[in-house]
Order: sequence, then C-alpha cells, then structure tokens
Amino acid sequence: MSTDNNKKKKSPIFIYYAILLIVVLVISYLLIPKLVEPKEKKISFSEFVEMIKNDEAEQVEVNSRQYKLKPKNFKETNTYYVTGNIYNDFHESSALLSLLDEKGLKYDSPIVSSNYLLELIIYVVPTIVTIAFFVVIYRSMNKKGGVMSFGKNTSKIYAEKSTGKTFADVAGQEEAKQNLVEIIDFLNNPGKYTAIGAKLPKGALLVGPPGTGKTLMAKAVAGEAKVPFFSLSGSEFVEMFVGMGASRVRDLFRQAAENAPCIVFIDEIDAIGKSRDNSFSSNDEREQTLNQLLSEMDGFDSSKGVVIIAATNRPEILDKALLRPGRFDRRIIVDLPDQKGRVDIMNVHAKNVLMEPDVDFEVIARATPGASGADLENIINEAALRAVRAGKQRVSQKEMEEAIEVVIAGEEKKNRVMSDEEKRIVAYHETGHALVTSLLTHTEPVHKITIIPRTSGTLGYVMHVAKKEKVLMTKKELLEEIIILTGGRASEELEFDSVTTGASNDIERATEMARNIITTYGMSDSFGFVNWQKKNQMYLGDSKTLNCSEETHSKIDNEIQRIVADCYKKALELLGAHKATLDALASVLYEKENLTGDEFMKLFSELEPDITLTRADDGV
Ligand code: ADP
Ligand code: MG
Ligand code: ZN
Repeated sequence: MSTDNNKKKKSPIFIYYAILLIVVLVISYLLIPKLVEPKEKKISFSEFVEMIKNDEAEQVEVNSRQYKLKPKNFKETNTYYVTGNIYNDFHESSALLSLLDEKGLKYDSPIVSSNYLLELIIYVVPTIVTIAFFVVIYRSMNKKGGVMSFGKNTSKIYAEKSTGKTFADVAGQEEAKQNLVEIIDFLNNPGKYTAIGAKLPKGALLVGPPGTGKTLMAKAVAGEAKVPFFSLSGSEFVEMFVGMGASRVRDLFRQAAENAPCIVFIDEIDAIGKSRDNSFSSNDEREQTLNQLLSEMDGFDSSKGVVIIAATNRPEILDKALLRPGRFDRRIIVDLPDQKGRVDIMNVHAKNVLMEPDVDFEVIARATPGASGADLENIINEAALRAVRAGKQRVSQKEMEEAIEVVIAGEEKKNRVMSDEEKRIVAYHETGHALVTSLLTHTEPVHKITIIPRTSGTLGYVMHVAKKEKVLMTKKELLEEIIILTGGRASEELEFDSVTTGASNDIERATEMARNIITTYGMSDSFGFVNWQKKNQMYLGDSKTLNCSEETHSKIDNEIQRIVADCYKKALELLGAHKATLDALASVLYEKENLTGDEFMKLFSELEPDITLTRADDGV
C-alpha cells in the first residue's frame, strides 16, 4: 500500500509504452509486408504466352510497360509473373489480346491484391496502437502523481500496514510510553470513549533531542495498536513547487481517513510549524502548508480513529496555533535516557550482537551521560565493527570503550574543536554566571554546569534549577537577572583582561530585559508609568516595536545602556571581591567539564564558609 512506489513505477511504464509503439510500427510497416506481400517473378515473354496457353492464368494486367499475370495457383505461391511489354504500340499487341479473349481472361482492370489480413495489419493495427498510446499518456497526465504532472501531487507519503515495532523495542522512556498507552487503547476501542462522550486528543507532540527515539516511539504506538502508520516528514512538505505542501497535507489526511483507524505521523514538524510572526524568513509556501494542516486537523472527526503524532526537537519555535487545545495539545517529553535507561537501550540493541561475558553495560552507561538512544545504538555497532576488524568472534569491553570515544567524543568535537585556551575561557565564563547567581541571591545557582560544546552551538551553559513559578517579578529581581547575565563576560574580563564573542546571547537577553523594564513594565524613574512598546501580533508571538517619538527612542536607548552598564559593574565588583573562589571553581570545572548542583554546593561552602546557600527550588 505504499504510494511511495507509484512514482518510481510510472516513468518506466511510459518508456515501455513508447518502446512497444516503435516495435509495433516496425513490424507492421517493414517486416510483415516483406513476408506477406506477393512476390513478383520476372519471366520471359514466351514463358508468359506459354502460361496463358496452358490455362495457368487467372487474370492479366496490361499496361504500357509490362504485363502482369496472376496465376491460378496464386494462393499457394503468392507470386505474380511479370514480363516486359515488347509491343511499342498497343494495337500491335492485338494478337496477344485475342489470345486473352479466347481464353476468357480479364485484362481491362488492374490486378488488386485482396489480402485483407495484410491491410489490417499495415493500416489498422498501428493506428489503434498509436491512439491507445496517446490515450494512456493523456489519462496519466490527468491522474494524480502521473507521468509529467509536475504541478500535481507527487506526494511521498510513507505508509506501512504494520510497523513491526512495539514498546519492547523502545527502552527506557517509561513516562512517555505511559502517556501513549491511552492513545493505543483509543485506537483499539474508540467506541468505549465515544459512548461516554469523551473527546480524545487529536494529536500528540513528541518533544525531545534528536536520536531519543521519537520516530521509533510513534512506530511502536502503531505497532502496539496494530493499525497502519502514515508518515510524512516536515522537511518534505516544503519543496520547490508552490501549493504542493498543502496538497500533500490534504492527500495525507484523505488517505488516513480511508484507512482509519490509523496513525498519522508528522516528523520534524518544526519545518512547517514555525511561528508565523518571523517576518524575516516568511515563506508563503510554508504558511499555506501550515494553514492546510491546521484546517485538516480541525476538520477531521477524531471519533473515526485517526490519531496524529508529531515530533520535533524545537518545540519553542512552533506556531502557537498548532499547540492550542484540539490540535497538538498533548506534549510528551522524550528526554535523553538516564543511567538505567541507557543500560536498557544497550540491552535492546545488543540482542543480536555476540558479546563476551566481560562486557558490562553498567560501566558503559556510566561513561556516557548525555548519550541518546541513537548514540548508544551506534556505540554497539561501532564496537561490533571494531571486533570484526580485530578478527574477533565476539565484542569485548575493550571495543565497547573504544567505541564510546569514537561516537561520543567524536560527536562532541565534530562541530567545534575547542582549544585548551578556549576551554579555559568558557570555564571562567560559565563559572562567572554561576558564582554571581550564588553571591547575589544566596541560592544554589545550578542544576548543572557544563562546558562540553553542544551541536546547537553553545559552548557551555548553566542549567538553572526550575524556580518556583513566578507570576510577578520585582524590579530588584529583574536587575539581578541582568547582573547574572553579565556575569559571564565580567568573569572573562577579570581573568583574561580581554573579552570574547561568547557572550552575544547574554547581551541580547540582558538588553531585552532592560528594554522591558523601561518600555513595558514602567519601572524606570525617568520614563514612568507609560507603555512605550506595541505588541505586533497579539496572538502569535511577542515581537514588538517601539511606539514613541524619535526623541524618546534615543533616550530609551541611553537608559538601556545605563542599566546594563550598571549591572555589569556590579557583576565585576562581586566577582572581583571573590576572585579566589572564582579561580578555584573555574579550575574544577575546567578539569571535570561537568558540575552538578550538589558538587557546586559542596565546593562553594568549602570556599565561602560564611555564606550559606539554599536551593533555589526550596521556595526562597
Ligand atoms: P528521533 O526520531 O528522536 O530523532 P529515532 O526514533 O529516529 O530518534 O531514533 C534513532 C534510532 O535510535 C532508533 O531507530 C533506535 O534504534 C535508536 N533508539 C533511540 N532511542 C531508543 C530507545 N529509547 N530504545 C531503543 N532504541 C532507541
Ligand atoms: Mg526522528
Ligand atoms: Zn553566558
């Protein structure tokens, strides 16, 4: 049932038809006439007269050049006999004519071959074949996805009757699986839900880093529910021809409705579902596709048993309209596996790999924090390849450990190779953020500090503990945030007496915050209780433009600069006063590359015994 194949099949069919047409024409016009057409045999005039005298002739054709004789046994021989006209004058041939008359032979009309079969083959068959050829082309041009239909839908909808994957193939991810169990149940007995009047979510959004098994999980849901699986990748939507994306979406939902109950899976939905308010990269095609998707999702009746699952690793850029209730209102987090999850995943993938008894997945898992399911699968395969290269029968722990280095370390450095000096700078930068946080707010700053560069391009980050959700923030808190943001750059300047480009994101956020203090929150003394900023698209995002005179605009700019500069000065002072602590923490981070919140707390209390930190999530 894969419509994927149609496209591949179609152009050869077109070629086959053309070849067939040529073959038929060659046979009809060249070969068959050679075989079937009557032959002409030259004979002498005397032989000709002899044949007439012997009553062998059935008909004779006389013209100014030659005589042609059709013998009585023509049917068997298929041969005419011809001889030159030896008389210059027709009248001189009267002797011959009277002989013909005497024998009762007709000679006043040409001999017509009455080979109907031949005529049929030569004229009728090629005509029929040619007409048929054009009919076929015409038809397929009008058909969807047919030959030469560029503007039409050549959709690559990938459909599987059964995916063959089950939850047993997905290790770890217990929470995500639990969230999906309900969907499976719904697909199996929709009646149970509709009877009570319950509406099931139309769509679930799988969110998580690449390689954590989102695609796998969607297939497993289809496999568990034993329903067909239709999938389409977001990036395929956005292609060259305008209007294709929208028609693909239509096609996908039409097919799904025909095959309900089933699962529709849209991979990389961020490629189409990007927030529409970004006017710089606005893309009509994508917007059309997105609108089509939205309207299809609203239009279909979920009680029929079609469930849409989408996957993304960039949920933050998705258009708000996609996330509202009735669309992808369920968000299922598929996170990187923890220690136990990693062991489980390796067990799943090692099933078909021969392993020495010394292989210890616990040890491997401990060495691979942050590895995704795909990484772990890759590690096992790499280890197996190494074992083969080494001429071994089984994979041993040694190959596994080498494979970690190749897969994980290779991946981390693939994008950015950090020099030692750079690593030291990043260590100071991140420690700066963390230390400023602790000194200002007396809380544990972090859940984790890392200086391992990520594929996303960040060189390191401080992962803040989720604070208690706050609806209101005081001006003091906002300013503290800005000081923390400037802490990274301040730390670099203190230690190295120079600054790097690494702080651009901090600067952006600090500036934005300072701008909001003035223009949106009315917290600046000199600007007062006035809104200076207009939201552009209230319902779609929060892009804003300043809503004030040129003069005020430049004053605001000056004020922003003053606020941020003050904060930066504060950060410099704080870090300068605790330089020894900064140095000590930075060197530990440089060594270990990762620091957990607990490790940070312990180090900090040793270095600064007078300050007691509390955990940020303790509600301080
Ligand atoms: P994503 O769609 O999240 O980027 P995939 O589902 O394509 O990731 O995962 C890629 C491969 O990694 C899968 O085919 C599977 O072999 C392996 N994998 C990832 N996560 C898991 C997991 N939790 N359990 C087992 N295998 C996994
Ligand atoms: Mg995927
Ligand atoms: Zn920073």
